[in-house]
Amino acid sequence: MRLQLSGHGASRGSALGRARVRLPHVLEVVEERITDVEAEIARLHAAILVVRDEMHVTRRRLHGALAQEVGEFLDLHALLLDDPELLRGLDALIRTGRYSADYALRLQRDRIANVFTGMDDAYLRSRIDDIDQVIGRIHAALHRRDADVQGIAGEILVTDNIAPSEVAQLQAQGVMAVVTAGGSALSHSAILARSLHLPLVVGTTLALQKINDGDVLVVDGGTGLVVREPEASDLREHRARMRDLKRERRQLNRLRREPSRTRDGIDIRLYANAESREDVAEAHALGAAGVGLYRTEFLFLNTDAVPDEEAQFRAYRDLVLGMTGRTVTIRTLDLGADKADRTGLVLGNEPNPALGLRGVRLSLSRPALFETQLRAIVRASAYGPVRILVPMVSGREEVLAVGALLARVVTELRAQGHAVAEHIPLGAMIEVPSAALSLPDFIGALDFISIGTNDLVQYVLAADRNNDALGPLYSPLHPAVLRLLRAVITVAGRRNIPVAVCGEIAGDPACVPLLLALGLQEFSLHPATLLEVRRAIRDCDLGMLRARAPQLLRARDRGAIERWLHRVRLPSTQ
Ligand code: PEP
Ligand code: MG
Repeated sequence: MRLQLSGHGASRGSALGRARVRLPHVLEVVEERITDVEAEIARLHAAILVVRDEMHVTRRRLHGALAQEVGEFLDLHALLLDDPELLRGLDALIRTGRYSADYALRLQRDRIANVFTGMDDAYLRSRIDDIDQVIGRIHAALHRRDADVQGIAGEILVTDNIAPSEVAQLQAQGVMAVVTAGGSALSHSAILARSLHLPLVVGTTLALQKINDGDVLVVDGGTGLVVREPEASDLREHRARMRDLKRERRQLNRLRREPSRTRDGIDIRLYANAESREDVAEAHALGAAGVGLYRTEFLFLNTDAVPDEEAQFRAYRDLVLGMTGRTVTIRTLDLGADKADRTGLVLGNEPNPALGLRGVRLSLSRPALFETQLRAIVRASAYGPVRILVPMVSGREEVLAVGALLARVVTELRAQGHAVAEHIPLGAMIEVPSAALSLPDFIGALDFISIGTNDLVQYVLAADRNNDALGPLYSPLHPAVLRLLRAVITVAGRRNIPVAVCGEIAGDPACVPLLLALGLQEFSLHPATLLEVRRAIRDCDLGMLRARAPQLLRARDRGAIERWLHRVRLPSTQ
């Protein structure tokens, strides 16, 4: 019988297909003994191999702004999977106890959990979640038949939640859409689904009770509606939506060569957040003004050794060459917090890593490391326009320290006979509230600024950006965030200092009117949504938005901000 369920649309797109229900993974395995020990060990090792291969394939497919964040989960899980302690322990349990591989996994999980729960360090304690994920993956692989993996192509996954590390894998397996009972539209999984164009509906609380394996579903990732056993009218609507989406894609493609110009004729600069070759090529092809954010830490995340000056120089130079004369903004290392590396640079025992030795703090505490990176960037400046962007600045001292080090590096490189650009603009990420509030004290030492809303939101609202459980609490649509953005943009505007926003909000077409009203004229965003943002800009009347900015700044809660956004939306001219 037809049933309509409502969730929250988290990634647009419409899908029609059969449901594949995945119940929450609980490792409730009963004790079971086996007779053929070697066959059981072989079965376990084969499952581990499958998991390792899957993670490897997913890792390779990742690129773009989220590659590091999702990659980190995978890297950590790959490390756990290779941990000799874990593997030896499992083999030993099967050999000595003659336990089934499933039960050995359960025993080993409980042993490790006991060690973790006894730890003082809250961060380490929380790592048990990662162990659970890895053990859960092995357990699932033990029971997976080939048909399970292949069969999921063309189906709609219905589950309690999905991890960011799964999203790319599901898309690669041909899953058409995902419906989750929990989750939030602001989670990293949702951001990733949007950038991969995988329709996603989250918060469909009744999904697991009301949907069974094999039910036919129509999923609308825009409105968040899920229809079980659709009727003729639902199918007609789905077809109409698909036609609309196709038409929209064609229209978007026409904008590849059009300017990002508002209806009243103001040009807005769209830069790209780009790290991989593919991103750079796409940014170039879509007519991005340049690269507004190149996250250098990805060079450090996949290796055991710190990349030397030559290796870094080659990477930065190739990036600059790839953008053929358009400006490239290279951000200095933002390691730390959840961006842990394998090189040992990031402290592993910080009680509160998000507030710890991260970004420029880490760089300044390791002068030789920082100098090597600056030398590599400065040398790349000989190949095209380069700007240097410093992450996690909290105040004036850090900006002055970086400025002094940069000046010394430039002088030394010139003395050593290297070609160096005449001027390399220095900028700061404004993503720590203290930097936003004390900006007038140090903006004179900068050539540009870029607002990192991903972190600014988490630090202003005290809401962890990686904690999906916080749901809508982590949102840029908060009056305090908007007023702070306005203050930063105003300070920069008075001094004629270019200011961009490079957090995820800049890639959300729905937020374009809001950012324009606040005075923003430069966006830096992942190429995946650049055309949608360009279209949204072309639909805006900047004069009207600016006139309505006071109303926006008077909003007292998220609801009022959303109502403002609704009121200013103009019918599309496309
Ligand atoms: C930000 O914080 O908004 C940002 C762009 O940097 P990252 O997401 O790399 O922390
Ligand atoms: Mg940041």
